Amino acid sequence: MDLFTRTAQIAADWLRSLDKRPVAESATIDELRSALGGPLPRGPVDPLAVVEDLARAVEPGLVALPSGRYFGFVIGGGLPAAVAADWLTSVWDQCPGPYVCGPAATVVEEVTGAWLGQLLGLPEHASFAFVTGCQMGHVTCLAAARHHVLETVGWDVEELGLNGSPPIRVLVGARRHVSIDRALRFLGIGRASMRVVPADGSGRMDVRWLREELTAGKRAAGDAPAIICAQAGEINTGAFDDLDGIADAATEAGAWLHIDGAFGLWAAASPALRHLVKGVERADSWAFDTHKWLNVPYDSGLAFCAHPSAHRAAMSVTAEYLVLGGPGQPRESLDWTPAFSRRARGFAVYAALKSLGQQGVAELVERCCAHARTFAEGVAALPGCQVLNEVVLNQVLFRFEDDQTTDRILRRVVDGGEAWMSGTTVDGRRAIRLSVCNWQTSDSDIARTLEAFRNASVC
Ligand SMILES: *Cc1c(COP(=O)(O)O)cnc(C)c1O
Repeated sequence: MDLFTRTAQIAADWLRSLDKRPVAESATIDELRSALGGPLPRGPVDPLAVVEDLARAVEPGLVALPSGRYFGFVIGGGLPAAVAADWLTSVWDQCPGPYVCGPAATVVEEVTGAWLGQLLGLPEHASFAFVTGCQMGHVTCLAAARHHVLETVGWDVEELGLNGSPPIRVLVGARRHVSIDRALRFLGIGRASMRVVPADGSGRMDVRWLREELTAGKRAAGDAPAIICAQAGEINTGAFDDLDGIADAATEAGAWLHIDGAFGLWAAASPALRHLVKGVERADSWAFDTHKWLNVPYDSGLAFCAHPSAHRAAMSVTAEYLVLGGPGQPRESLDWTPAFSRRARGFAVYAALKSLGQQGVAELVERCCAHARTFAEGVAALPGCQVLNEVVLNQVLFRFEDDQTTDRILRRVVDGGEAWMSGTTVDGRRAIRLSVCNWQTSDSDIARTLEAFRNASVC
C-alpha cells in the first residue's frame, strides 16, 4: 500500500479506537524512550516503514485527548471536518504570510475572521490574526495595546522601544491565566508594572477595587496610561469577570481593555449563555482559542483588535524581497501576526465553523455546559464529595472529604483508564477539575465517568 493511503488508515484506526482505548497512556516514559530512542540511522529509511514504526512506537504513549472522556485542563477534540481540513493543510503546505504564498489560504482567513467576529459579537471593524493559541493571541493584542497607550503619551514604542519610555500600568485579576504574565514579559512589561486586582471566590475581579486603583494609581504613577486584562472564563471555575462594569471603568480611565477569552468567549456564540459576556464588545482586544472549544486540532487561536491601526503598527513588517500589496490589495497576514512563515490555520477553522453552522456552535457550547451540570449533580451525590464552584459554564471543581482522599480517588479514576482529568490546589486544598469541551462527549461518557468516580470512592 502506498504511504499516504496507509497513513490515512492508521489515522482512521486511531480515531475509531478512542471509545475503546484507555484514556490515559499505557506506556511509561522509559518504555517510550526505549521504543523511540537509539541513534539516528546513518542512511535513509523507507518512509512507509518510518511512519508505521513511528505509529506503532508512539501508540501506547498517546493520551486520548480527542476522546469524549478526556476532561483535563481545557482541551477539546477535533471535529471531523476540521481534522480533515487540517490534513489537507499539511498536504497543500501553503504559507499565508504574504498573499503570494497562499492566495486561497489568505481569503479563507479573511472569510473565517469575519465569521468569527460575527459569531462572537465583536465589532465589525476589528482586525484579527490567526495565531498558535491564546498565548500568542495575548502577545499580539498586548503589543497593540502597548503601541496605543504609549502613543497617547507621545511615545513611539516601535521606534524607541521601552528604553526610557513613560511607564505603563497594567491591571490584572488575581486569578488571571499565567499566559497573561508571560505575554507582558515578552513585551518588556515586567511584574513591577502589574497591579493585581483581588478576586472573589469564583475568581472574578473586584471591579470596585479596580476602579479605585485606576484613579488613585493614576495620580500616584503620574498619569501613566493603563491596560486592563480581564477574563471571560476562569480556568478552574469558568467564572466571568463583570465585563460591562470593567468596560465602564476602562472608559472612564481611558484604559485599554484586553480580554482573555480562551474558552469562555465561546459563550457569546450561544443565545442562552451570551449574558455571561455582557459588555464584551466594548473591549479593545480579545484573545481566544479555536483549538479548545471549537474543536479544531492544535494549534489554533486568534487575536482580535478594535484598533486596526495600533494592531498593524505593532505587527507589520516589510523587506525589499517581499512582494506585498498596496492599497486595495489583499490582506497581508504578515501585517497582523507575530509569525513570519506559518501554517495556514484558517482552513481547519473554516471547516469547523461551516460544518457546525451558527446553530451547531451554539449547540456544542450549550451541550458541553449541560454535561458539566449533569456531572456536577451526579458527583455531588457521592459520599464526601463537594462541588466547589457554581457551574456557570463547562468547568466543574470538586473534592472529596480531604486532600488525600481527593488525590486517591482521582488517581484511581485516571489509572482505570475510564476518564482523564487533573488535580489542582484551590485555596490550599486539593481539588479535581473537570472541563467539558469535546464535541464527542455524550450522555454515556458522563455516565461512565460518574460510574468510575462512584467505584473509586467506595473501594
Ligand atoms: C488555555 C488558556 C490560555 C492559553 O491558551 P493557549 O491556547 O494554551 O496558548 C489562556 N487563558 C485561558 C483562560 C486558558 O484557558
